[in-house]
Amino acid sequence: MALTGIQIFKLLPKTNCGECGVPTCLAFAMNLAAGKAELAACPYVSEEAKAQLVEAAAPPIRPVTIGVGDRALKVGGETVMFRHEKRFENPPGFAILISDTMDESEINARLERFGQLQYERVGLTLRPELVAVKGESGDAAKFENVVNRVKKGSDCGIILMSDNPDVLAAGLKVCADRKPLIYAATEDNLDRLADLAKESSCPVVAKASDLEKLAQLTTKLTEAGVNDIVLDSGSRSLRRAYEDQIIIRSAALNSKFRPLGFPTIVFPCEMTQDPMMEAVIASAFVAKYGGIIVLSDFQGENLFPLLVERLNIYTDPQRPLATTEGIYEIGGPDENSPVLITTNFSLTYFIVSGEIESSKIPSYLLVKDTEGLSVMTSWAAGKFVADTIAPFVKKCGIADKVKHHKLVIPGYAAAESGGLEEELPDWKIMIGPREGAHIPAYLKTWTP
Ligand code: SF4
Repeated sequence: MALTGIQIFKLLPKTNCGECGVPTCLAFAMNLAAGKAELAACPYVSEEAKAQLVEAAAPPIRPVTIGVGDRALKVGGETVMFRHEKRFENPPGFAILISDTMDESEINARLERFGQLQYERVGLTLRPELVAVKGESGDAAKFENVVNRVKKGSDCGIILMSDNPDVLAAGLKVCADRKPLIYAATEDNLDRLADLAKESSCPVVAKASDLEKLAQLTTKLTEAGVNDIVLDSGSRSLRRAYEDQIIIRSAALNSKFRPLGFPTIVFPCEMTQDPMMEAVIASAFVAKYGGIIVLSDFQGENLFPLLVERLNIYTDPQRPLATTEGIYEIGGPDENSPVLITTNFSLTYFIVSGEIESSKIPSYLLVKDTEGLSVMTSWAAGKFVADTIAPFVKKCGIADKVKHHKLVIPGYAAAESGGLEEELPDWKIMIGPREGAHIPAYLKTWTP
């Protein structure tokens, strides 16, 4: 059980030296209890107290990393039940299933889809992270061979799945350096799986048939020295698995129940045979609170909506995605090219720049910092008005790049045209379309 602020305070030096960044030990203790401070910020805490305080400083849901390098996936580390309370931290990973009983062409096709299905959106690359290799043949050599092909065919994270510890050991032999997730420790194989996880320093899934048994299992694993654990509650119906996710999150956050303070893995692939229903089930776990979501296969029509849903849910609701302020040159513009201006809400920028690009008319796009707000919102908030646009246009240097001095403003900001003509007497203000989709037609009629 985590310590309270007062309990933490009793373990601190009580000198109020302020070196931790707050004026008193009590304030530091309160921050530590709330997860807003790191214990390392106090240089004077004794080793004895440190051991007890580490418990208080640890996140209620342990972060677990699968894989290495740029493609490593970090799950867990969540601190809130609801996104609007603060934000969700680590997006769930999507895994495609590959069985060692599949023929070579099917395995190759899946690996190819895994690599190809990635999408650019608002300046980010959306793609899945994991391949789950399932040992259904029971043949360790066959499993090892498929794991090896997956490892060589992609830099993805890997999940090794088998009921047989010998088969898992064979898979680990070829990919332990990629820090795969081992699936799964159960009551029956606990000691052997704990040894495999410790020897390879890899995370392991704890699987039980209900939450009580699951808590007992994780307690035994941590006592055996295994700390990087992912939870499988064993439920394979949407209703029970969904309930389990909520109970696990609530137990970890609200009751500070350490045995369930780990990220989870869920298997929509084992809940339905219908690919579209599988995607719908997966979408429920993106929202609440799957850590790793295993799908039977990836197709663009089911993966893309899930990637976008994940992006939306795991962005910080208090900080809109924003693009850097500045002049963006699209298609190699010259001194006679149109100049358009918009806001730095990422979605707005990518829609407008995409439409300019598709018009095939080289243009300058001025992106004004509006703290990530869209045109209408920032105009209503007074952040995209003549008084703020004009200084930006003057200082950004666009006047040196074009001869014509015509500025196209968004149709939704048309009310600012008069003010802009006063603020920018050297410029002719032109009112562009309201919708991005109408930009190509508008640009085709534009003359310097
Ligand atoms: Fe207290 Fe340590 Fe902070 Fe000093 S650095 S005020 S001793 S908690």
